[in-house]
Amino acid sequence: MSVLAYIESEEGKFKKASYEVASYAREVANMMGTDLTAVTFNAEDVSELGKYGVNKVLKISNDKLANFNAEAYADALKQAAEKEGSKVVILSQSANSKYLAPLLSVHLEAGYASNVVALPEGIEPFTVKRTAFTNKAFNFTKIDTDVKIIGLSKNAFGLKETEGEATAEDFSPNLSEEDFSVNVESVDKATNKVTIADAEVVVSGGRGLKGPENWGMIEEMADILGAATACSKPVSDMGWRPHSEHVGQTGKPVASNLYIAVGISGAIQHLAGINAAKTKVVINNDPEAPFFKAADYGVVGDAFEIVPKLNEKLKEF
Ligand code: FAD
Repeated sequence: MSVLAYIESEEGKFKKASYEVASYAREVANMMGTDLTAVTFNAEDVSELGKYGVNKVLKISNDKLANFNAEAYADALKQAAEKEGSKVVILSQSANSKYLAPLLSVHLEAGYASNVVALPEGIEPFTVKRTAFTNKAFNFTKIDTDVKIIGLSKNAFGLKETEGEATAEDFSPNLSEEDFSVNVESVDKATNKVTIADAEVVVSGGRGLKGPENWGMIEEMADILGAATACSKPVSDMGWRPHSEHVGQTGKPVASNLYIAVGISGAIQHLAGINAAKTKVVINNDPEAPFFKAADYGVVGDAFEIVPKLNEKLKEF
């Protein structure tokens, strides 16, 4: 019996969320008193997983799986789970896993809990804490199927380093033509920028910035902090910024450690997408702006005066 962790990689490399899944899965395996097995698709070097408590890695190397393909990945993970006799399968709550987990749930006849933010409350019954209503509330979900699937919210658990080594075992699942009925292509964007999904820090601008020509100071702050840039919905609707930067209820979710909102009022639909950010800072010239109620730190003032000064200070660190 084991806990199975699906460790995502991109172009063969792991990301922070991958190690977070490993750390979390190790704790769950300890709670259950079972082994932990990780599964990777075309990962280059899996030894680093040892630092996060993984001892055994099923390494799938298959050119047909170079691009994410939900059907094929779900079939491969099902076979891995059956081989290991896994009772709990853990994935990161990434965009890809949101497609993958429900399919895997059908394959394994397993209950699936998404948006999980903590270790299970208990093993018998198996109860997990999840966010609900776009991160405004928590609920506790009991999963009573034999096999259980957990979608771990990004940045909810953090990394836990241990001492250990990961040994890799090649694993070749039997995949059929049906698994490849959907042809998935990947498109590379010509950008070296940090993505909102992976960023530790996100600097975001709203309509208070008056126009796209004023984003230089936002980009400068993002460069200094190694942050991703984001924006409110109207900003992307007006074409001031690309739609890929729109965050909120109808945009991308943010789960960074720090979210800095400049000239954003803090409408409920905006806050719905950024609630999971750990620390929120707002810069707004209206002391009545709703964002101040949601923020951990606030500066009341003109963004055009404050942001350049802040950038100068940040450069000193
Ligand atoms: P505004 O509301 O115009 O606020 C601008 C702010 O800038 C004000 O608070 C103002 O005081 C401040 N300001 C002005 N000048 C300065 C200055 N010089 N210095 C500092 N501050 C200044 N919105 C999202 O963002 N994401 C979503 O996903 C989203 N989904 C939606 C879904 C639905 C169904 C609906 C109906 C709406 C949605 N919205 C969403 C829109 C949302 O309701 C707000 O209209 C939007 O978030 C407001 O954007 P904003 O804060 O940039 O602009």
